[in-house]
Parts: sequence; C-alpha cells; structure tokens
Amino acid sequence: MADAADRRVKVVLLGPPGAGKGTQAQLLSSRLGVPAISTGDMLREAVAAGSGLGCRVEGVMAAGRLVDDELMAEVVRERLAKPDALAGYLLDGYPRTLPQAKTLEGILADTGEQLDAVVMVDVPEEELVRRTLLRGRVDDSEQVIRERQRVYREKTAPLIGYYRERGLLREIDGDRSVDDVTASLFAALGVSG
Ligand code: ADP
Repeated sequence: MADAADRRVKVVLLGPPGAGKGTQAQLLSSRLGVPAISTGDMLREAVAAGSGLGCRVEGVMAAGRLVDDELMAEVVRERLAKPDALAGYLLDGYPRTLPQAKTLEGILADTGEQLDAVVMVDVPEEELVRRTLLRGRVDDSEQVIRERQRVYREKTAPLIGYYRERGLLREIDGDRSVDDVTASLFAALGVSG
C-alpha cells in the first residue's frame, strides 16, 4: 500500500473489544500521518463533556450495547468531513454492524472512493475478558465486558465475511506482544516499519 503522502489511506480496524485496536491504531496513525478515529473515544468524550450526544448515548454505552446506527451515521459523517480526514484515516470501532458498513460505503461513494483494507485483529475471548478487566475503564465490569463480547459476536462478527467477500480482509493474530502485532499489521498493509 502506498503511503499517505501519495494518496488517501483508508483502513478499518476490526476485532473484538479488548483486541488492542486502539493501541495499534495509534502506532499506525503516527507511521502514516493520518488520524486514528475511534468512535468509542469520541462517544466517551461526549459523555464526559455532558453534550447532547453524550446524554443520548451514556446509558447504552454503560450497558455494553450499541448506539443506534442512525445516530452513529451522523457522528461518523461529521467526523470524516473534518479537514484532517482529507489525508485519509484509520477507523477503530466503526463500522460495528452491517448497516454501518453500508453507511460507510455510501460516505466513500460520495467522493468516488473505497476502503484500502479491513484488518481483523483476533484474540480468544478469555484473553479479551482478562485484558479488559485489567484496563479498569468505568464500563469494564465483567458483566458489561461479557455483554460487549456477545454483541460483538452477534452484530460485528458478520462484517468479517462481508469484507472477506469484497477482497478487503486481512487477518492478524492479536494474541501476541504489541510489537509483534504491529509488525504483522504493517506487513499486512505493505507499510515498512
Ligand atoms: P471497546 O474498546 O471496548 O471495543 P469502544 O471504545 O470502541 O469499545 O466503544 C465503547 C462503546 O461505545 C461501545 O460498547 C458502544 O456502546 C459505543 N460505540 C462505539 N462505537 C460504536 C459504533 N460504531 N456503533 C455503536 N456503538 C458504538
């Protein structure tokens, strides 16, 4: 894959909650010079700021459920229209449902573009629960973590097949050290370290 200096790089990071997408998105963002856009971070900031959006999503997030697709479409459409996203972007936490994948396709089609790749970072569920409990975020009680895993299997996992059929999927093993995962991620995208 050519570097961001040459053209807009648009990559989706897919994987279960706790797989380490956020960490890898930051590393890849620095390397490529494109923003890592985490919908989870955006929503948490909205909750912390007590904005209208924050008030609407707070309860849903605390329960480990998904914010509805229409509201997420507004959030993402607005974010991708910001000037820094002109260079391209890495999406972490979006899309999370098939309708969201279609929304993203529509946003891209508006400017005649396509995704470059969707990278699936996979980790076994028991390791995911262990990691998220260690992280200790406020929405990280074991019950909520299990609910997020269930929602992931039900709503998000179908995106794996969806993107595989489109020839965009690259799968990497996330059950390794951060450095090893980063090396595989860069290799999967054809980016030199
Ligand atoms: P994690 O890192 O645990 O996977 P995130 O930080 O990505 O979780 O997201 C935290 C919460 O924010 C989710 O559990 C969900 O309630 C909400 N959220 C984030 N992105 C989306 C999305 N694309 N669609 C619906 N809800 C979302």
